[in-house]
Amino acid sequence: MATDTAAGTPTLLAVAGWPVGHSRSPRMMAAALRELGLDWRYLKLPLAPERFVQTVAALPQSGYVGLNVTIPHKLAALELADAATDAAAAIGAANTLSFDDGRVEADNTDAGGLLDAVGEPVEGKRALVLGAGGAGRAAVWALREAGGEVAVWNRTDERAGELARELGVTHVERFERADVLVNATSVGLSPKLPEHEALEALDIGNEGEVPSLLVDLVYGDKATALGQWAERSGARVVDGLEVLVRQGARSLGRWTGQPAPLEAMRQAARSAHC
Ligand code: NAP
Repeated sequence: MATDTAAGTPTLLAVAGWPVGHSRSPRMMAAALRELGLDWRYLKLPLAPERFVQTVAALPQSGYVGLNVTIPHKLAALELADAATDAAAAIGAANTLSFDDGRVEADNTDAGGLLDAVGEPVEGKRALVLGAGGAGRAAVWALREAGGEVAVWNRTDERAGELARELGVTHVERFERADVLVNATSVGLSPKLPEHEALEALDIGNEGEVPSLLVDLVYGDKATALGQWAERSGARVVDGLEVLVRQGARSLGRWTGQPAPLEAMRQAARSAHC
């Protein structure tokens, strides 16, 4: 793929969000582009919701070949696209846009990125997803597609019921033991949250049985309370930074046509200070 879109215009990528200041993607992607030897730029694009559609429409003429989108733009990103992958269409949200010859293609790499991070078969395994927001939807779809027996729990029970009906999985009102447990809620974002409060908020409580594998989508500089709880009991823990790296790797692969340099991305994501 060419490294320049027009004379003097560098090839550009960005992450758009509102807010987006906390994003680790620019540093992670810059490391990846360096490693690949591409003279491309990956920028942080703070974008208010009311400006999203018109701004995205102008990006391809300004040298952009792709865009990652984060909160609150994932639904709007899918809606404006000319085409969508099965994942984006089924999940109802896109985190990756590719600009190709005047067309906008939408993908959702959160789903595949989660499975890449899990890195072991989930077929036939019982998976419980905590959370029915955007990340929960992607996790439920991904695990179901991979053959898992998926159940979903959410603080606001009706949302879990709706999601379960829509994606054809089970809805549970109480925490149940699972082989694979995915935390797709924002519980644990505060590093100061004591473990018992995190477990209570997720209906796990102190008696909750530990899974064989925990995927905690929440990430920060330190292990989450949930991660520490699971690890102490011998579970394998996949943290949110590994999922971030894997979803980013899939996006980058789409745009560059090359395998992403995972190790460089991991190091950059883990060293990024928000
Ligand atoms: P979202 O759409 O806003 O959904 C938030 C979810 O968290 C909802 O299910 C909500 O339940 C639940 N929740 C919030 N506060 C809670 C509390 N105090 N107790 C119990 N449940 C609570 O957000 P999202 O986009 O799905 O993201 C969820 C988390 O995943 C965030 O921490 C985000 O940073 C992370 N994430 C990580 C990656 C990655 O690559 N690692 C990718 C995407 C998202 P209600 O429905 O009851 O409000």
